[in-house]
Amino acid sequence: MSVFSRALEARLRGVGAEAKGRRWVFVAYDQLSGEVGPIATTTTRELGIVLVECPEKAARRPYHRQKLALVLSNLRHFALQQAERGVVVRHLVAPSYRAALETLDTSAPITMMRAAERELRTELLPLVETGRLTVLPHEGWLTTSDDFRAAVGERAWRMDAFYRHVRKRLGVLMENGKPVGGRWSFDAENRSKWRGEPSLPTRPTFAVDDVTREVCDLVLARFARHPGTLTPEALPTTAADAERAWTWAKSECLASFGPFEDAMAAGERHLFHTMISPLLNLQRLSAKRVLADVLAMDLPLASQEGFVRQILGWREYMRHVHEATDGFRVLRGAKQPCAEAPGDGGHGGWSGERWTDAVADAQRAGGGDGGSLTSVLGSKGDVPPAYWGAPSGLRCLDDVVKGVWDEGYSHHITRLMVLSNIAMLLDVAPRALTDWFWAAYVDAYDWVVEANVHGMSTFGVGDLLTTKPYVAGSAYIDKMSDYCGGCRFDPKTTCPLTPMYWAFLGRHRNVLEGVDRMKLPLASEARRAHAKKRADAEVFERTRSALARGEELVPEQRSPREK
Ligand code: FAD
Repeated sequence: MSVFSRALEARLRGVGAEAKGRRWVFVAYDQLSGEVGPIATTTTRELGIVLVECPEKAARRPYHRQKLALVLSNLRHFALQQAERGVVVRHLVAPSYRAALETLDTSAPITMMRAAERELRTELLPLVETGRLTVLPHEGWLTTSDDFRAAVGERAWRMDAFYRHVRKRLGVLMENGKPVGGRWSFDAENRSKWRGEPSLPTRPTFAVDDVTREVCDLVLARFARHPGTLTPEALPTTAADAERAWTWAKSECLASFGPFEDAMAAGERHLFHTMISPLLNLQRLSAKRVLADVLAMDLPLASQEGFVRQILGWREYMRHVHEATDGFRVLRGAKQPCAEAPGDGGHGGWSGERWTDAVADAQRAGGGDGGSLTSVLGSKGDVPPAYWGAPSGLRCLDDVVKGVWDEGYSHHITRLMVLSNIAMLLDVAPRALTDWFWAAYVDAYDWVVEANVHGMSTFGVGDLLTTKPYVAGSAYIDKMSDYCGGCRFDPKTTCPLTPMYWAFLGRHRNVLEGVDRMKLPLASEARRAHAKKRADAEVFERTRSALARGEELVPEQRSPREK
């Protein structure tokens, strides 16, 4: 018997484990909160909860080991925490969530809060249709789909409009009907480069108990082929750990969050970012509480508003976008092509091994397809081996990728302006890059990763939810980071990113001409001499094919006519 099973059994010994007459609640892996939904409103004597571990889901994609351990250990600690307070807990290991709930020994319907992940909703739909499962609204969100519909128009959805609407409706950072400080966003004050000052906070570590140690052993044994370093002491796994992580974020990160929000630095993975997304997305931390705490703090307005914009604005907006488009399966009323089964984000191309179970598992679990294939730019490439750890020679890319496989984390700007930007310059397919992010990050779930990667950072669905593609050459990376200083490429002469940027504009001119904010860059590209354009296209081809083969790039001198 495992340490966890023994601990659970010991806690349940004192509880009348009789299933009959209880209200059974299925708690999904990412709903680990006792403060919202039916768990919060049912007395412990009447409540029974079901928690399910599904190894098949864990094996569906090449998920980072740190993520598997994070989810499993939090789920197990949540089970123990609930049993401790007298709730009857059924902990099941099953090939699918549906199978687990079908076999549960209770005749009464099971209740759950609406699943955040579409993948889980799809899998459980047959149980909803037969009445076995009753779905209640998910109370962990701050806004509603009515907010979204009321705020955004029909054709072009904009986060700013949504953010203003919900700030007004909820009275957040408002004064006499006006935004505090006279502006809705202090975005322009969020763009300082970090030059070593103020000093960076040291991220907290967490005690590793027997339950977490056992989970880590299980991950290393059962999911041995999964990528990523497993660092048990970096895992917040209990309610107390989540509390400590948030206390650290408040005291160490938030004051400097605003000015350095867009900064990047070699070897520094979080700067002043809070690293709370894994906990928010598991509901270990509640967005409501995080928002209330930040509003109650005495913070510089650029930091306070900047952070509120992330939690109340971007996070909520992205989940509405995902819901409103069925994960980009339906765009402006039109059905989109979808992949048959979950993709591996280029893992196979890098490792030489197929992630073979994907199709069979997707069918078994009834989890549906492998996501939208839409690519407004027509990009079709796979994720190159550099994203799995093969050195590319580009210091920015290699540094961020190393951090991701070390921790399952990097902050927003490295996700957007290094990883996605370079992938976009290489014409990597939005689907493939989304699958890569989904596998690589500890905070990735379909509702958030699809919207951020397929929707925002790859321009996969065009300007539906953002105003332009987030694409840049080496000048941006040099301006916002210290990567270029220690790189073998010179940002002004030999770095391939700038010619690739021009080549990107030239290649995708037809689509980008319809995007207002691309008019200036396109006009600059049009003025480039023919020889330069040809050289740009050659750099793109050479870089793309070298990286596709897993080769490291080396600087090539270009003649002045080509620069
Ligand atoms: P902080 O910078 O401290 O921000 C605070 C919180 O704001 C975050 O914890 C997060 O909950 C929220 N937030 C901010 N921006 C977003 C956003 N665009 N979407 C959703 N929440 C946001 N976030 C995920 O939670 N899961 C993902 O899989 C994910 N994938 C991303 C992929 C790409 C290419 C990009 C550009 C962004 C992605 N994001 C994702 C959004 C954002 O980058 C992360 O939420 C953030 O970096 C998490 O780190 P943090 O907690 O230190 O964030």
